[in-house]
Order: sequence, then structure tokens, then C-alpha cells
Amino acid sequence: MNRDDVRKAVSDAVYSRIGRQNAAPLFFANWKMNKSAWDVRAFLKGLRDKALLDRENIAIFPPFPYLYILQSELRYSKAGFGAQDVSESASGAFTGEVSAAMLADCGCRYCIVGHSERRAMHGESDALVARKAAALLKEGVCPVVCVGESLAERESGAYEAVLARQMAAIMPVMGKAKFILAYEPVWAIGTGRAATSEQIGQTHAFLRCQLSAELGDAGTSAPILYGGSVSEGNAAEIGRIPNVSGFLIGGASLDVGKFSNIVGATAPGRP
Ligand code: PEP
Repeated sequence: MNRDDVRKAVSDAVYSRIGRQNAAPLFFANWKMNKSAWDVRAFLKGLRDKALLDRENIAIFPPFPYLYILQSELRYSKAGFGAQDVSESASGAFTGEVSAAMLADCGCRYCIVGHSERRAMHGESDALVARKAAALLKEGVCPVVCVGESLAERESGAYEAVLARQMAAIMPVMGKAKFILAYEPVWAIGTGRAATSEQIGQTHAFLRCQLSAELGDAGTSAPILYGGSVSEGNAAEIGRIPNVSGFLIGGASLDVGKFSNIVGATAPGRP
């Protein structure tokens, strides 16, 4: 088996477990541009003390420079880790960029693409997000593709059209590939105002229909995470909503106590 075969076998094995119906919910911690090397080690010690590094359904997304710490510290753990962004290009004169192959070399199981902060602050288009996802799939790294509408789009009722447009860009890239979708309403990110259970239930059902209609079985089994002001107070309720396969957690994932409580509040399996 060469290196590419090994990568593919590992990502297939992990995905087949996280993608199945009634699998334990996923808890993905998006740290954004926060923490020091010391903080990262302290957080991991906290997770280890609570036996949470033995969980395949937990993954940490630190800033790039700390990936090597995760690679070393999680060597024998089931918990995974990933990056927050990737270049669409394989190599070359792209100062400051990091390629999908480099992430795979660092042991990344996942990589976020299309986070609303990158779409808004770095002008990332739907097409660029799709090219980044394609670059990751080529290297056996599972893309975590973020979609979500603004407050104006939610309030005007245009949100389904916006989500459908964002989804349409990535569908041709996905085919039968393994990926994770994250629904993150922009107005709920970092605001302390999560979407209501009704909004989440309706929107995840809409996304599931889109996925299944376009991708068949691959779309039916792809996990759909919810992200946007997930907290110790709302995780249990959100975790019970049909078609919510887990969480992408920003602010509350910076504190090991809060993050662990969110994991603890959400029972594995769902109706
Ligand atoms: C995020 O940015 O992915 C996110 C969900 O942030 P928060 O949990 O802080 O709303």
C-alpha cells in the first residue's frame, strides 16, 4: 500500500463510522485565531483527563501553527483534528497559503472550507469553496463545507435560495465523495443568538432533501452539522433535532469545561 492508499483507507474507515445513521453526534471545535501553544496543550490535557480523546466523534480545528501539536499529542487517540482553511492550489508561488497535501502530511482528518468569516472577510466565492473542497478530496482529507445565510436573507425568506446556490456549487465536486456539511446561519455565529429549534429542523430537512436528491445514498448519509452559538444550554435540545448530525462550535469550544459539558449534554444516538 502506498501513502495515498493508506490515507484513503483511513478516511474511508472513519467516514463509514461517522456517516452512518444514529452515529454518535460529531463535536467539532473551531478555535479560529485563538490560543497559544501552552493553551493548546492545557486544553488537550483537559480532554484527556475527561477521557474525551478516546472519542472518534470529537475533532479540534486549531490555527495552522498548532497542527503539529495535535499531530503529536493525538498520535494514539481516537479524537481527530483538522484545519480551518486550505489553498485551492497544489503547490507553487502562493505566499501564506497551505496546500491540502500539507494538511494530509500533518495528519488532518478534516478541513473546514467556506466558513462565513472567510466568505465575508476574504471574498471567498461559492466556486472557490468548491475548488478547495476538490483539492482536499484529492488528498483524502474530508471537507467540512459551511453554508449559511445572512440575517437579511433569513428575514426576507430568500435563505433557501441562498443555501441552494451555495449547495449547487459544491454538489458537482462531491459526487460520491465523503464530506460533511455544516449549516451555520451567519446571524447566529458568535452572537449568542442560536437559530430556533424550528428553524434548525426545517433548514436541515431542506439541506438533507437537496443532498439526497442530488447525490443519492452519498447525500443521505452525509453528516449535517449545526453551528452558531451552540452552548452548554442549548446543545441537548439541538442534538435531538432530526437531521442534526452534530455541531461546529466556535466560542464555546475555547473553554475545555464548556466544550466537555456540551459533549456530555448530548446523548449518543437519536431517534
Ligand atoms: C463558528 O464560527 O463556526 C461558530 C459556530 O461560532 P460560535 O459557536 O461562536 O457561534
